Amino acid sequence: MSEEKNIHCSFCGRSKNEAEMMIAGVDAHICDRCVEQAGGILHTELGEAPQTSPLDVAGKAEFDFTPSQIKAHLDEYIIGQDQAKRTMAVAVYNHYKRIGLVPLKDAPEVDKSNIVIVGNTGTGKTLMARSIAKLLNVPFTIVDATVLTEAGYVGEDVESILTRLLQAADYDLPKAQVGIVFIDEIDKIARKGDNPSITRDVSGEGVQQGLLKLLEGSKVNVPPKGGRKHPDQKYIEVDTTNILFIAGGAFVGIEKKIGSRLNSASLGYSKESRQHVEDDEVLSYITPSDLKSYGLIPELIGRMPIVTFMSPLDKKALRAILTLPKNALIKQYQHLFHMDDITLSFDEEVYDYIVDVALEYSLGARGLRSVCEAVLTDHMFDAPGLDATEINITLDYAKSQIERSSLRKAI
Ligand code: ADP
Repeated sequence: MSEEKNIHCSFCGRSKNEAEMMIAGVDAHICDRCVEQAGGILHTELGEAPQTSPLDVAGKAEFDFTPSQIKAHLDEYIIGQDQAKRTMAVAVYNHYKRIGLVPLKDAPEVDKSNIVIVGNTGTGKTLMARSIAKLLNVPFTIVDATVLTEAGYVGEDVESILTRLLQAADYDLPKAQVGIVFIDEIDKIARKGDNPSITRDVSGEGVQQGLLKLLEGSKVNVPPKGGRKHPDQKYIEVDTTNILFIAGGAFVGIEKKIGSRLNSASLGYSKESRQHVEDDEVLSYITPSDLKSYGLIPELIGRMPIVTFMSPLDKKALRAILTLPKNALIKQYQHLFHMDDITLSFDEEVYDYIVDVALEYSLGARGLRSVCEAVLTDHMFDAPGLDATEINITLDYAKSQIERSSLRKAI
């Protein structure tokens, strides 16, 4: 017994009593904590991931949200877009439930639910994907489809998407393997024209083919630091099976395709039965087949079975976006001024004016930011050096700032 007590870890000196476990070697001992630490060092040095299962990362224990909870979270940050929020909440819930499923014998394999969000620029597509990743606390990366090219051409290989996800996960492979990738501007890699062309289409169909490999859930060799693949490079093998891909795009003009499909579908019926669909409403009828007629290849669409849409933002929505979300623009500016001990306030009609100017740009909610900047830049420049403790923005002041700004000249 006393001999037992005399056993010490040969690395940290801890006695057997102080350790959970002591492992004996030929002429030495090592305690559980040193084993763990050594594992960590190996992981960092060799760039290999510790062997935790993805279930530990996004399994039942941590994934504890219902679709309505996911939607409630989205409601805090995103104004409107109810249909998209519901669709996303269900898709994400199913996706992570699928990952959390213990592989029971005879359990059906649940297909992956990658998502396409169609909607004008600045309607909140990226915000939607980002908010979900934040809620679930999984690695998240945004990639622009337009920078991707087929391997061997100038631009980025599709594998670079996974490099970025790995970076976002701090090279923690199991975490990266349950992350979320947002592919922006997916519409820009649509095939030009409906006929496959004889000339090579390196930035269109070629990239779609490349993406297909990632989306269908395969093991992909990824250069950990990005860049082009070359033979002597060390790769990390990333399994994409449980990575959720969300693609977004404006798909300019797709309403026409939806409209003509709707019309031809109702041919043969009496005129009255034909639904009168408002322009803004047309998007809500979007189906994967419309993406096909826009130039996405059927295989890719098959891998992104969930299609949802973001409605264009009207005046009422923009007005709400300005002040209501948890991190609304106005709240952000007020916070910035608050850090200089200044209370920033606005006359009510200034908000409407900001929205009116932003609407002129047709940049969705993104226009709001430029307008606010133009209104507030002078104050932001001067305020820190002044003794003022309060700044109120009146309509006249806002108007004069906009008239003087480069914004006005840009319209
Ligand atoms: P998209 O990806 O559709 O081009 P973003 O998600 O990048 O648009 O939106 C741009 C900015 O506009 C976001 O940072 C966000 O602040 C704001 N925004 C856009 N739509 C909404 C919305 N529905 N609710 C709240 N904020 C929004």
